[in-house]
Amino acid sequence: MIYKTDYHMHSSYSDGRSMPEDYIVPAIAAGLSEIGFSEHLTLFKDHEDWNISPGNISPYISHLETLRNNIKNIKIKIGLEVDFFAGKEEEIYSFLDPLPLDYIIGSVHYLGEKTVDAGPEFYEGRNIDRLFGSYFDSVIAAAASGLFDIIGHCDLIRIFGYKPSADLEPLYRKLAKMMKIRDIAFEVNTNGRNRPLADFYPDRRYLHIFREENVPVCVNSDAHMPSRVGQYFDEAYELLRYIGFTEMAVFDKRERRMVPF
Ligand SMILES: [Zn+2]
Ligand SMILES: [Zn+2]
Repeated sequence: MIYKTDYHMHSSYSDGRSMPEDYIVPAIAAGLSEIGFSEHLTLFKDHEDWNISPGNISPYISHLETLRNNIKNIKIKIGLEVDFFAGKEEEIYSFLDPLPLDYIIGSVHYLGEKTVDAGPEFYEGRNIDRLFGSYFDSVIAAAASGLFDIIGHCDLIRIFGYKPSADLEPLYRKLAKMMKIRDIAFEVNTNGRNRPLADFYPDRRYLHIFREENVPVCVNSDAHMPSRVGQYFDEAYELLRYIGFTEMAVFDKRERRMVPF
C-alpha cells in the first residue's frame, strides 16, 4: 500500500466546513497514513472570514495536539497555508518562526488587492499573459523567500480556465529551479478538479519539469469538507508515477524526508 498523506486541509478554524476531528474517519477510509491541517493565514490584510485570526492560532494548535495525542491509527500534522506578499518576508518570518508547526504551505492568492480565485470577473478585460506572468513572479518570489516548506497550488491562476497565448514552459522551469535551490516541495493539488478548471494544479503538461529539476512532491486535496479528503489521490499518484516520480515528501517539525511510493 502506498504511504499517502494529505497535508492541505481546511477545518472550521478557517474556511472549512467541519471541525478537525470530523476529517479523521474519512481520512482513514481513504487509506491515508497522515493528515495535516493547513488553515488560511493572511497577514497585512483586514481580517477576512476565510482566514484563521492570529489570536486563534494557539487554540488551533492545542486542539490539534490534543487530537494527535488521542488518535492512534493515523498521524496528525499541524500546518498553515500562509499568503505570501513580496516585501513582507521579514514580518512573515517573525510571525511564523516561533510556531510549533510540522510544515508551512506558502500560497499566492492575492494579485494586488484582489484574490485570483474569488471569481472570473477578476480576469475580464485583462491581459491574461500578463496576469500569468505576474502570478508566477509572485510564486517564484514565494519560493525564493525560503519561508515555506511546500508551495500551494503553484498555478492557481488557471482556476477559471483562462488560457494565455504565451509559452509557459520558461515560467514553470524558473519556478521549479527556484524550488530546488530553496529545497521546498510542490504539491499536486487535486481540488482543481472541483473548480471551473476541472484539472489538478499544476498543469499536467508541465509536471515533467518538476521531475527533471528534481523537486520534491506531495499530493494534497485542499479539502474544505471531510468528504473531499484524499479525493482523486489514486489518479494523482498514477499520474506522478507515469511522469517518473518515485517518492514523496513527508514533514515533521519542519523537517522533510522522502518516502517511496
Ligand atoms: Zn489556497
Ligand atoms: Zn487551501
